[in-house]
Amino acid sequence: VTQDTGTSVAVERARRFADDVVRPAAATIDAEGRMPREVMEAMAAEGLICPSLPKQLGGHGLNPVDAGLVTEAIGRACCSTRTIMTIQDALVGQTLMRWGSETHQRHLPDIAAGRRLAAFALTEPEVGSDARGITTRYEADGAGFRLSGRKKWITFGGIADLFLVVATGDDGPSVFLMERDAGGLVTEPMEGLIGNRGTHVAEIRLDATPVVAGSVVGRLGGAFPFVAGSALDNGRYSVAWGGVGIIAEATDLMCRRALERHQFGAPIADHQLIRGLIGDAKTSLHASRALCLRAGELRAAKNPQAVVETTMAKVFASRAANRAAADAVQVFGGDGCSSRFPVERLLREAKIVEIIEGTTQILTSEIAKNALREAAPRPRPGKR
Ligand SMILES: Cc1cc2nc3c(=O)[nH]c(=O)nc-3n(C[C@H](O)[C@H](O)[C@H](O)COP(=O)(O)OP(=O)(O)OC[C@H]3O[C@@H](n4cnc5c(N)ncnc54)[C@H](O)[C@@H]3O)c2cc1C
Repeated sequence: VTQDTGTSVAVERARRFADDVVRPAAATIDAEGRMPREVMEAMAAEGLICPSLPKQLGGHGLNPVDAGLVTEAIGRACCSTRTIMTIQDALVGQTLMRWGSETHQRHLPDIAAGRRLAAFALTEPEVGSDARGITTRYEADGAGFRLSGRKKWITFGGIADLFLVVATGDDGPSVFLMERDAGGLVTEPMEGLIGNRGTHVAEIRLDATPVVAGSVVGRLGGAFPFVAGSALDNGRYSVAWGGVGIIAEATDLMCRRALERHQFGAPIADHQLIRGLIGDAKTSLHASRALCLRAGELRAAKNPQAVVETTMAKVFASRAANRAAADAVQVFGGDGCSSRFPVERLLREAKIVEIIEGTTQILTSEIAKNALREAAPRPRPGKR
């Protein structure tokens, strides 16, 4: 796997867009706690809201590797802005492409153009990692269903027009496509977040919200491992690249600072312990990107190993992002602890990538389960 396959025009354009539009807006997005309409519109004009969707639907038609490199480029500049892609493209757009009916897929051009925003609503106040234990219920009601329950931590939940809601009922956990104005839906913004402050995270209350029978995405009872399972796998791939973006930005910022800042009569880059931090960050950048590239190639080849490779990439990159961001703060010294310097935001954002789309602990357990399955002795043919 090459380290940098980003020679495609789309990747180069995304990098320029990140430098010209996204990075200059990042501190304000964080401070004001909202995503400016102009950023969303500029992303849509570049086809960057849903880069994986086909061009005729308003996407960029990118293969998983290029989509990943584009996600890294935007994620370097601003985590909240990268999250637009994670939700609109990975969790919702690709899910509707794969599992949605023709009626569901009619929403895709609006989602890709940012005219309608979507959210993915799985987590609840009492149910996080143990996602199959959700309590939000669907009940059959005439030709359709009614949804009742509470959802928490729903990214873009505060402003989304459409929701993929995971609810359980007689046929088991299922995914529904629901409009904000369906009735019986209340959203409440969640304040005081450590990061992703521009992503309108909200709690959601559903009080016998009516949805038509055709709102079921995939089949009834098909949330796990199918519809919600594949959405989370796509989300994990996107977040893993977001982690790479954080490491790339942290490495770049710490190198520049180490060359500029002088102590003891020399640039701090001359001090070996600072070099150690830089060397570690650069190594973890390349290792994380290599894992993501490998996962991307397997995804492009539709290789079943892609799921576990994606999981490993997410665990590794998100952990490495926390280390690199913390080390970048260290290189900046006191300035690193101030919101006037971007490394302070990187450190806060890095924590989130270790928690969303499956925590490090849950995903590491999944990797171990896979390894143990592979290592288990296979019954020899003819033996019982
Ligand atoms: C900024 C942000 C945005 C989010 N956006 C969305 C969204 O758009 N949609 C959505 O549905 N959800 C969203 N989430 C929720 C996120 O997916 C959950 O927070 C995550 O899955 C963890 O669930 P939890 O917070 O309930 O933690 P818990 O499940 O309560 O876990 C708490 C701790 O216990 C550990 N733990 C739990 N079980 C085990 C186990 N079996 N073995 C070892 N350790 C374990 C976890 O790793 C964690 O460290 C978001 C969260 C954040 C912070």
